[in-house]
Amino acid sequence: MSAVIAGFPDHAVLTEVGPRDGLQSEPIFVPTSEKIALIQALLDAGLRRFEITSFVSPKAVPQMRDAAEVLAAFRDREDAHLTALVPNMRGAEAAIEAGVDAMVLFASASESHNLKNVNRSRTASLKGFADVARLAEGTGVRLQGAIATAFGCPFEGEVDARAVVDQARAYVDLGMDYITLGDTTGMATPALVVKRVQALRPVLGKSTTLALHFHNTRGVGLACAYAGLGQGITHYESSIGGLGGCPFVPRATGNVATEDLAYMLMESGVETGTDLDRLIRAAQLAERIVGRELPGQVMKAGPRLKTASMDSVRTANG
Ligand code: ZN
Repeated sequence: MSAVIAGFPDHAVLTEVGPRDGLQSEPIFVPTSEKIALIQALLDAGLRRFEITSFVSPKAVPQMRDAAEVLAAFRDREDAHLTALVPNMRGAEAAIEAGVDAMVLFASASESHNLKNVNRSRTASLKGFADVARLAEGTGVRLQGAIATAFGCPFEGEVDARAVVDQARAYVDLGMDYITLGDTTGMATPALVVKRVQALRPVLGKSTTLALHFHNTRGVGLACAYAGLGQGITHYESSIGGLGGCPFVPRATGNVATEDLAYMLMESGVETGTDLDRLIRAAQLAERIVGRELPGQVMKAGPRLKTASMDSVRTANG
């Protein structure tokens, strides 16, 4: 099936961020063997790009203290592209040593969120990235850049499009060929997605990949991805089962669920190379691992043509 919706690409590439973005916010340490089992299930479902862990201080983020072990389990998979989030030089050294394919460097588009998140100014963050870029030179490890709060800031409200564009330009200048717009607190809207993509196009040129990363906090995560597809964007980041968000904050939903996004793409004629039934099983595994219900929807209802026997349904409801 080729794309049936005008403007949509005929294929899309999903990056699974559940093992990092999702599990990082879990209150209880997920054993390394369970993380590995989950990533293996996602590989078996056809996913090939992973934000697999982050090299952060184990004191600050104990959930990711097994970063090197998790990476070691998969780094020989030639067909898998493994990235890790890296907040500073120490993290970068550890990530290179552990054998990542690419390091993800991140800063927010709003000053106050960056201060709150990493305790330094945006300018200081970018300066630090230049040091990491020098460190990575000649190692074969690529650099990717994430722009957090790209669609709005929980402290400042609307984020200036120029700040996003300038940050993307700085990333390109640092040699990054993959840039993610992160919707950190679920403030993106379909209209804003179109505006951002159009504003960034002249800066990125043809050799830089733009990826979109949405949270479903306000229920429009998939609609935002749909808007991105309409702009021809092929790269999306998502989390199996919708892992992520803070379990202590009611309705603070996490990332768009991988299987929901894959379902929408497949049913729109956009090839993803994934197997929906296996993604659903991986989402169910994720649910067992974290021990609570996850927000993904296709994992509960199943594919649309999965039929039930008539005897299994008592009454029809309107
Ligand atoms: Zn996220």
